[in-house]
Amino acid sequence: APMKDPLDLLDLSSQLDEQERDIQHTVRDFLADRARPQIGEWFEDAHFPRELIPELGKMGLLGMHLQGYGCAGVNATSYGLACLELEAVDSGLRSFVSVQGSLSMFSIWRYGSEEQKQEWLPRLAAGEAVGCFGLTEPDVGSDPGRMRTRAVRDGDDWILNGSKMWITNGGLADVATVWAGTEDGIRGFLVPRGTPGFSTSDIKHKMSLRASVTSELSFDDVRLPASARLPEARGLGAPLSCLNEARFGILFGVVGAARDCLQAALSYADSRIQFGKPISAFQLTQKKFADMAVSLSTSMLLALHLGRLKDAGTIRSEQVSVGKLNNVREALGIARECRTILGGNGISLEYAPLRHANNLESVLTYEGTSEIHTLVVGQALTGQAAYR
Ligand code: FAD
Repeated sequence: APMKDPLDLLDLSSQLDEQERDIQHTVRDFLADRARPQIGEWFEDAHFPRELIPELGKMGLLGMHLQGYGCAGVNATSYGLACLELEAVDSGLRSFVSVQGSLSMFSIWRYGSEEQKQEWLPRLAAGEAVGCFGLTEPDVGSDPGRMRTRAVRDGDDWILNGSKMWITNGGLADVATVWAGTEDGIRGFLVPRGTPGFSTSDIKHKMSLRASVTSELSFDDVRLPASARLPEARGLGAPLSCLNEARFGILFGVVGAARDCLQAALSYADSRIQFGKPISAFQLTQKKFADMAVSLSTSMLLALHLGRLKDAGTIRSEQVSVGKLNNVREALGIARECRTILGGNGISLEYAPLRHANNLESVLTYEGTSEIHTLVVGQALTGQAAYR
């Protein structure tokens, strides 16, 4: 039977098949036990729960929409629903799964050699190894074509120099997918932890995604064998295609964060009494709830539609931009509005909305900022690329 969910006004769960609903329930139940009770503390302590990684692997959540090499091979909609449940707990958990599955594993699965796939994918899928994806640099974010990290040939080897910034999972990673300029354009390389000259340092003092490891990667004359290069990745289109995979998980994920905020605010408003009645009985509060429920439902409808397009194999990147742009913007609006309903208590870590809102600031910026996605949609409509 469909999930009986008061937040599912439009009965959108009736649009899911049995396997999709099963996956969503299983992930939700697992997290209710293993993550939800601890998440406020992890966020406060800037702690990422590494012990969950093999459990996420066992549940098939790592590279879950990829085929073969120990990956679960479920449809894209199921992957989206898993992201939704992860992000309903915290965007940091969803970010881990997005980077591991859609950036690290997808880059190897799509562009790697057979040996690279055999070496890394089964371990990454099982959560026995962690991956990261280095595209952004200290001086290069929205315009990655101008990256400064370089890989230069030395006989059959490559010598890698440069640095990458804001890299999710960087300090945890056993293998980094690193994008670098070569005389032959942008290429991708797999750099294992421990390679001489490769070091990482974690970024401290974050006010967002605190339950997630974000790092700087440094490459100082790192010597790599020819077999470290991802043979099928040529040009900027390769890393951008990986980001497109991850964005798909995000446009589902943020619906989970928004749902969790709305749930917290509904429950609070029901028990908080002012002027002799529950604040849920005031018209202004109800208008907030109604607007948020409309926005949550339309975001979910959009996510499901894009899931069906992805499963049909017809989705275009500007459609993913529409989803990321709308759903992150709406989720952030919902998180902030829910915070107001909680009044002073809303600024406490005891309640989820401000934690989600702070997390969503990162989600608004990473994987293509909202401004860049706006201009991608603008380009699709007008044929003019205004961002360059
Ligand atoms: P900039 O590109 O400098 O942009 C600054 C502002 O200018 C933004 O508002 C932007 O929209 C605007 N702007 C830039 N160009 C234009 C334009 N042409 N028109 C209009 N406005 C423009 N990167 C990775 O490679 N791997 C990761 O795992 C990863 N994880 C991250 C985790 C976190 C928590 C965060 C915060 C970031 C992460 N990133 C990662 C980096 C992220 O993708 C970049 O921050 C993002 O691409 C923006 O780049 P920037 O920060 O350099 O901002």
